[in-house]
Formats: sequence, C-alpha cells, structure tokens
Amino acid sequence: MPTSCDVTDHDSSSETVVLVVEDDSAIADALVAELTAHGYVVVLARTGRAALDAVGARAPDAVLLDLGLPDLDGVHVCRSLRQALPSVPIVMLTARDTEIDIVVGLDAGATDYVTKPFSTHVLLARLRAHLRSATTVPPSGDLVFDELRIDADGFRCYLSGSEVALRPKELSLLIRMASSAGRVLSRSQLLDDVWDMSWETGTNTLEVHVHALRQKLGPRADGRPWITTVRSLGYRFEP
Ligand code: CA
Repeated sequence: MPTSCDVTDHDSSSETVVLVVEDDSAIADALVAELTAHGYVVVLARTGRAALDAVGARAPDAVLLDLGLPDLDGVHVCRSLRQALPSVPIVMLTARDTEIDIVVGLDAGATDYVTKPFSTHVLLARLRAHLRSATTVPPSGDLVFDELRIDADGFRCYLSGSEVALRPKELSLLIRMASSAGRVLSRSQLLDDVWDMSWETGTNTLEVHVHALRQKLGPRADGRPWITTVRSLGYRFEP
C-alpha cells in the first residue's frame, strides 16, 4: 500500500536528511534513487500536508519541493517550511519558469529553484553547494574579494587597506550579501535577514542602503560592479 510519507534508510544524526516533496511518482522515484545512491537519507512526502507532518517528526537538512502539489499550494508549503526551518536550504522544483513564479517562490523563502525537466546531476550539485553554505554560517573572519576585505568579526570593511565608513546596517547588508556571493538574494529575504522586516511593498529602505553601498564602495579596480541588480528578483554580490 503506498504511503504518503516513506522513510528510507536508518536514522542517524550524522547523516544528511533530504526531504523530497513530490507527488509525481516517476520524478519522486528517480530522486529517491539518486539521493540514496549519493548517501543521503531521504524522507519522501507525496503531499504538502505529509511534508509539514514530516518536518514536525524530524527536521531535514535540506528540502526539494515540488510547487505543484495535489493538496496544498506549493508556495504556501514553502512559506510554512521556511518558518519551521529558518536556515535549511529549500530548492523549488517547478514546471513554471516565468519570472513571477520564481519571485513568488523566492519571496516565500525558497533558497533556489530548478525548472522541470531538470538534470539530477545539476540538482545534486546545487544541493551540495547549498548544504555547504548552510553549514558555514554565521559568517566570521574575513570575507575577501579583490581589493575589498570585510572583517565580519570586527565589523569593519576595508578597500585596498583603507577603512570604508559604513553605517551599521550598510555593513550588515554587505556582510549578508557577500557571504552569499554569486547568489541572487530576494528583496524580502534581505529585508528579513538584515532588518528583521517582512515583505513591505512601501519601503525603499533596502534600495537606499544598496545605493549607499554602491556610492561608498565605488566600482572595482577592474571596473566591474560589486552589487548587481537582478531585475525583479533581487540583488547579487559579485564574487
Ligand atoms: Ca507535482
């Protein structure tokens, strides 16, 4: 008899648990086989409700979340999972690849997304990268990019050895973005992480701070920008 929540392999705290939320049997079976072959412990939930129950039973280290679920809206499930698991990578699996769907998913707390059909090799590589960055928080020590050095412990920032006068929130924002260098961070994620504010359509706080950072840091010596605006998605600190 098929169950909505199957646990494969044995329980051990040293293992990496991946919650797979997927109702399509072919995709779910392929993911479970591939993840298990790579040494992950897989919890499979075939419905949104089963996913939320599974998280209550055992917190996973990462989540692969299909957005098209039979019972609950995938974005709603994503938001609930993010509340329950503040620092766990959530990768959305979506057949919907329009910009607005991706924005909605990222705003609901997803870390990343892949569009169907996807390569399991690419998905696993992304998963490994997210698991690595999830285990390297909080940022400490120096973050160094070309002539920029950010001393996260001392809460200071230097350009070619000279300290840059940044306001505390500007520096917090820079540390947050630089510690996820190369990744697009959504507007609401940055507001949430740096200001502890949820999505507020009226505020331009973030834009003001990004503008100030750009002014104070200037361009790189090679002319490239430090921070790129990714239209309607958010911002990316360039590694
Ligand atoms: Ca589906």
